[in-house]
Amino acid sequence: MINYDQEHIWHPYTSMTSPLCTYPVVSAKGVRLRLEDGRELIDGMSSWWCAIHGYNHPVLNAAVENQLESVAHVMFGGLTHKPAVELAKKLIDLTCDPLQRVFFSDSGSVSVEVAIKMALQYWFNTGEPGKSRLLTIRGGYHGDTFGAMAVSDPVTGMHTMFEQVLPQHLFAARPESRFGQPASEKDVNGIRSLFEKHHREIAAIILEPIVQGAGGMWFYSAEYLKAISEMCREFNVLMILDEIATGFGRTGKLFGYEHAEVTPDILCLGKAMTGGYLSMAATLTTEKVSSGISADDGALMHGPTFMGNPLAAAVAAASIDLLMDGLWQQRVAAIEEQMREELNAYKDHPMVRDVRVLGAIGVVETHEAAPVSVLQSQFVKHGVWIRPFGNLIYLMPPYILESADLTQLTAAIGPALSMSFVT
Ligand code: PMP
Repeated sequence: MINYDQEHIWHPYTSMTSPLCTYPVVSAKGVRLRLEDGRELIDGMSSWWCAIHGYNHPVLNAAVENQLESVAHVMFGGLTHKPAVELAKKLIDLTCDPLQRVFFSDSGSVSVEVAIKMALQYWFNTGEPGKSRLLTIRGGYHGDTFGAMAVSDPVTGMHTMFEQVLPQHLFAARPESRFGQPASEKDVNGIRSLFEKHHREIAAIILEPIVQGAGGMWFYSAEYLKAISEMCREFNVLMILDEIATGFGRTGKLFGYEHAEVTPDILCLGKAMTGGYLSMAATLTTEKVSSGISADDGALMHGPTFMGNPLAAAVAAASIDLLMDGLWQQRVAAIEEQMREELNAYKDHPMVRDVRVLGAIGVVETHEAAPVSVLQSQFVKHGVWIRPFGNLIYLMPPYILESADLTQLTAAIGPALSMSFVT
């Protein structure tokens, strides 16, 4: 199996001629992944931040099985169904009041494309077609499709080679002001000068609120986000918040924007929305934006084949109920406290530049980037699944993780740091 895989199948961000080592998984339950050779790994990644309730959850399994008995998929053009309507209602109830309209899509990147289209179509249809650029900050990541790449960090966003063909948007510096600190004048003035100079051409700012994920695992000041939200109002610019990574409790609040008490005009959700079971995302917006787009019978020009997929919608609704009926806040707070204690022990390690923890996200930033394949096999030897990128070793475990398992995850980072010297 492995040989066929390596010869014929691309994995994320890999070469076909020198593929990275891949491990065959045969099953998963709770926080444990079982490999073909019988080894079990404690999952520190939630499968790229999705599987918040763990794997093979009876409630989520039942939601998919029940839905299978009625309809697995049906086109959303001209048809609708209960799972989509119920999920839309849950998302509208859960998010801030102004968000009242929902567009379903099949992945996070596509939900970002839809968000960008919403912003552009809004200004186009309300008589300001010149507002067609986007503003963002360095260090962000919004997906791998072209519109999303164009607003991701040109260097850490993994798309430098496409620079020539991407629309040229506006980038402010990555905020230096950390989470928990006030916003520095330098950060606020830096972005303000871009608003002042370009607001007539800016349709929207797009940001990951509080936590920048795949672009650098950076946690920035809530005050900075609040200042940006005020600038959006002052300069008549829409605010798109990409909560694909931060949504559904990951940062300790249900949504990252709650840390700054701001409300977006457009919100992207994905990843943990289905508890990691199926690929589905959503873009929510306000009555104001949707009626601008819809003026003179304007249609929102997007409609993917698998839009509103009933299986994904049913499991997403079940995942949200599971989250809201459970103890996610206590669990995330306990993970945060334990990670803070156990990861901070690495602060003085000579390989370590920084340790930061927020909610169920723990990051150990090293001075040098060690090869991911070396670190990965080291982690597997220690019975854990941790997949670093660049110089960032991080944990984003399922919320159901028990304390002893978390200790095994954090303990495995020590030997990996020492390995980094050798490579
Ligand atoms: N936005 C953010 C903040 C993300 O973290 C990701 C995925 N890492 C995306 C967008 C893209 O989502 P997807 O991989 O589902 O297309």
